[in-house]
Amino acid sequence: MRYGQMRQYDIANGSGIRSTIFVTGCRRACPECFNEEYQNFQAGSLWTEKETQQMIQWLRDPNVEGLTLLGGEPMENAEGLAGVVRAVKAEISKSVWVYSGYLWEEILRDPLKKNLLELCDVLVDGPFINALRDPKLQFRGSSNQRVIDIAKSLKDGQIVLYRDEITGHVM
Ligand code: SF4
Repeated sequence: MRYGQMRQYDIANGSGIRSTIFVTGCRRACPECFNEEYQNFQAGSLWTEKETQQMIQWLRDPNVEGLTLLGGEPMENAEGLAGVVRAVKAEISKSVWVYSGYLWEEILRDPLKKNLLELCDVLVDGPFINALRDPKLQFRGSSNQRVIDIAKSLKDGQIVLYRDEITGHVM
């Protein structure tokens, strides 16, 4: 697995201050891709144990609410990211958000993607669509995207939208 960036403090991708990983590689070829250079699976740097340990150290900061996975396409790096999330969860209990161009329903059909999904807490699904862009939306760029509570959705067998713990708003 390769990555383009990792950020210690990120306030744009999920609830609160989060540490983020931007993996590289994506085959979806969305017409309005916001990050074409990250479509290339050879872009960026190789993810190693050093990066995993760095991320665990950042997540120990009490100001950091959790980890967010972005890309590129996290679900096309599902095996590698599942290893990272497992290593993080073995050390520290913090929420994990994942942003994917794939829909919830597509992820559930693929065992590797589903495995990563089950390790995470919140999924923001679907591609960003510029025609549906709405800057007032929280945690997502366009109105087609859904902010999904993964554990509740799996338990109920249907999509349950994420409720923000601070505002109480359903996304
Ligand atoms: S899923 Fe994301 S990275 Fe992949 S092509 Fe679409 S916008 Fe670009």
